[in-house]
Amino acid sequence: MMNEESDTSRHFLRQWIEKDVADGKTGGKVVTRFPPEPNGYIHIGHAKAVCVDFGMAELFGGECHLRLDDTNPAKESDEYAENIKKDINWLGFQWSGEGDAGEKGFYNASNMFDQMYAIAEELIRRGQAYCCNLTQDEWKEYRGVPEKPGRPSPSRDTDPERNLRIFHEMRDGKYADGEWCLRAKIDMASPNIHFRDPVIYRIRHVAHYHLGDKWCVYPMYDFAHPIEDALEGVTHSMCTLEFEVHRPLYDWVVDRMDEQGLLPVRNGVKIRTQQREFARLNLTYTVMSKRLLLQMVQEKVVDGWDDPRMPTVCGMRRRGYTPGAIREFCDRIGVSKVESESDPALLEWCVREELNQTAMRRIAVVDPVKVVVDNWSGPAREAELPNNPLDEKAGTRKVPFGREVWIDRADFMEVPEKKFFRMAPGQEVRLRGACIFKCTGCVKDESGKVVEIHGTWDEASWGGNPADGRKVKGTIHWVDCATGVKAEFRLYDRLFLERDPLKEGSENFLKFLNPDSLRVVSGYVEPALAEARAGERFQFERTGYFVCDAPLVFNRTCSLKDSYRPA
Ligand code: ATP
Ligand code: MG
Repeated sequence: MMNEESDTSRHFLRQWIEKDVADGKTGGKVVTRFPPEPNGYIHIGHAKAVCVDFGMAELFGGECHLRLDDTNPAKESDEYAENIKKDINWLGFQWSGEGDAGEKGFYNASNMFDQMYAIAEELIRRGQAYCCNLTQDEWKEYRGVPEKPGRPSPSRDTDPERNLRIFHEMRDGKYADGEWCLRAKIDMASPNIHFRDPVIYRIRHVAHYHLGDKWCVYPMYDFAHPIEDALEGVTHSMCTLEFEVHRPLYDWVVDRMDEQGLLPVRNGVKIRTQQREFARLNLTYTVMSKRLLLQMVQEKVVDGWDDPRMPTVCGMRRRGYTPGAIREFCDRIGVSKVESESDPALLEWCVREELNQTAMRRIAVVDPVKVVVDNWSGPAREAELPNNPLDEKAGTRKVPFGREVWIDRADFMEVPEKKFFRMAPGQEVRLRGACIFKCTGCVKDESGKVVEIHGTWDEASWGGNPADGRKVKGTIHWVDCATGVKAEFRLYDRLFLERDPLKEGSENFLKFLNPDSLRVVSGYVEPALAEARAGERFQFERTGYFVCDAPLVFNRTCSLKDSYRPA
């Protein structure tokens, strides 16, 4: 596992914060935030941001706020908000700090709407913002292209009185969506087109999930975000690379707040929030945009946000992934300035590494065929099997064994291939932890399918090893027919067959779905698994890692092995 001083952990964000701490810019406390929009469930990409935002705060003994960025009224809900909280906690993080509504460390951007509106009014009074009624198309046309200066809106040099009146009328519902907007007056000639008098408030006659119809004007992200950060006393605001070109605007808003005397002071130091950007986490063979994930949920391509094939945190939880493995994965990818793609096989590798150490071993037979021990006469016995060969403290368990057992169909061949050391007529194998068994033949149905295997056991080998020390190569997993319990297994594979499902645009991604991403089969498990509870993870010794989803239903987390090795 990664130690703290490894290359990936001394990344540029950490160095940036270190320097600010040394320069006394934080007023003694590093404050970060994770700002999800409650319009969906968080996915592995968000988990990366969670690890960075909470991780940096932890490293510097500071605090990380959880702020719902709920400035966009449509599509937001409490269901999403509650699940975002649950998922962050599950990943192992807890928000801290003052909070804005009774819960420590928890903020809603919408609770700052009054202040945002007041800041906008003050910009108007100072001649730094104006109301504009160009249509969307006109606005784009006036703004122009980076190589050439844009043209000023006819409203650009109107006086504050008029603008204040219109801004109030906008708020009071006098106008339709899009009829007017508020723009910051910055620089129509800037090579950065985000600087060309960006829209900072727009009209939207849509009810907000918390505030109802209180507002019909809503702040734009570029205006709202720096205000939220500044008012909360955030020192280091980290986001993904696409916001890099917005940074001058972020700073512009913070400067205006400074002029208006609104920046908080901590231990005598004025806290001036700053933004830095890092590359997003991209995973191959999946899509991550919440909009597309929602589409898959709505079109029932998957069975909810927490479908174990989804790249969501809740989906990964139901798949049996561990929080530790997800954090390790985010760590290994590191924090970078360069966009790249990660292979889901690395994530699986992290999961396997952890589960190999911690998961209890159990026996399950996923594709059963019956074996009859013809010379067995006495009562059932109990085989003693280790719970985890890598961890002696995990102890052992007793598993019943009798005259009839289930084994996996793949462990038998009527006519064995070369190097097939498992069960075959005339061949001896070990029934794991029980005894040596010699196959004598099999019974087939009309179609030629093997329905029953027969053979004899060597009583002196009880415990699993031949008394005379003769060599037995194959070891077979089994479940006793008399006491084994029927179970359902859900075998998952990747959801998309294409490395980049968006290669033909977001309209066509569903055509790359893997038709076999879920196979449901039934088989048998050893009796102890009848008591398994949802969320418990196991290694089924032959078939892979599984997590209990409901009584006697097991989701496959991943296979036991993979050729993948991290670089
Ligand atoms: P999506 O496009 O998937 O809907 P989003 O960026 O709109 O995601 P937000 O809820 O706004 O979702 O994101 C919250 C935080 O998570 C932001 O700081 C954002 O930069 C970060 N984030 C989102 N996706 C990723 C990703 N793939 N990798 C790293 N950080 C991400
Ligand atoms: Mg967003």
